[in-house]
Amino acid sequence: MPSGKTHDKITVVTAIAAVPVWWWESATKDWAGLAVGLTAYFFSGFWLSDDLDTHSIAYKRWGALRWLWWPYQKMVPHRSWVSHGIGFGPIFRVAYFLVMLWVTMRGLLWVLIQVHIPVSRDAVLGSFWGLTTDWTAAHPSWAVCALIGLVLGGVTHSVADAIVSWAKRVW
Ligand SMILES: [Zn+2]
Repeated sequence: MPSGKTHDKITVVTAIAAVPVWWWESATKDWAGLAVGLTAYFFSGFWLSDDLDTHSIAYKRWGALRWLWWPYQKMVPHRSWVSHGIGFGPIFRVAYFLVMLWVTMRGLLWVLIQVHIPVSRDAVLGSFWGLTTDWTAAHPSWAVCALIGLVLGGVTHSVADAIVSWAKRVW
């Protein structure tokens, strides 16, 4: 398999290569949409990597927050369809990450309430949810760009793994 560093380089090179393709194909030439898509692509390739299912560079990159991915790593077999499935892998990780964020935030707010800091869990979490849905409603095309970037970040990884596996079999 390509190493984590190779996957990082592939992410950077494919992102750069995507810009002229986008310029050629895009009717609207919305640079902000491109920026959103590329940001999502880098986030997907570097932080939401397929290889979070093992003790990888991407896993270590989460630093103090790596425990967020510990249950995922224990539950998902390395290179299984759950982590490396085209399309399914990145969408599942986004869903997993959002659930973990929600649980963590609820936990932190619960701690604040226990030490008598007056916060409303529903109000705080509701405002985060509101910000996300407002942003999506205001910029639906950017939301699509973000989704495409997140999915393609994982697809690029799976394709690179498949090509290297195939090449190793052939040689
Ligand atoms: Zn992999």
